Amino acid sequence: MTSFTVVKKGEEIKFDSAFTDVNEVRNYLRQEMSYNNFAMDLVEKKKVSATQIAWMHYLATQDVIDSQTPVEFGPYKQLVNKMYDTMTAKKFQVRLPGMTLSTVNKGANIGCVYVFENNNYVGKITSTGDLKGNASEDVLNMLEDANDNLLQLAKIYGHQTGTCSICARTLSDPLSVQMGIGPVCAKRLG
Ligand SMILES: [Zn+2]
Repeated sequence: MTSFTVVKKGEEIKFDSAFTDVNEVRNYLRQEMSYNNFAMDLVEKKKVSATQIAWMHYLATQDVIDSQTPVEFGPYKQLVNKMYDTMTAKKFQVRLPGMTLSTVNKGANIGCVYVFENNNYVGKITSTGDLKGNASEDVLNMLEDANDNLLQLAKIYGHQTGTCSICARTLSDPLSVQMGIGPVCAKRLG
């Protein structure tokens, strides 16, 4: 195993490379990190300095380590998945008793779910299912319920307000009133 040192943000990082030679590193970076412009610039250089070789080893070795580290999911991963599975082209909103959840369709927070308590933003659930923000005890309890059974909460909202949790239409036909949600929207959440 070969050791290298890179200087990252003024800090010296010494590490053992997961690769035996620089060609192996180049192949790995081309295959696995073509999205990384910095890595690709290094790979395509005709002549590379010792510092640049060390950086290639570093990027590739870090990527190997990252891919072997299991991602820890937060408590609301199921809810985030459900929201995004249900989303079609536009962003997807669910109104629940005292709380609204919304997917995000642009910017850095794509993949997160925004949480609103009585129309005030109180936090976001990250794509890995962790809540960031200052949610009240009520919201925390409701998020737990929503994580387990979003459809059930949507129906409760429908019964309380007489409108559909998803499309906001007035629940008028007897079946929808009984269900607490329109049949098309129920299928989306089901
Ligand atoms: Zn509806």
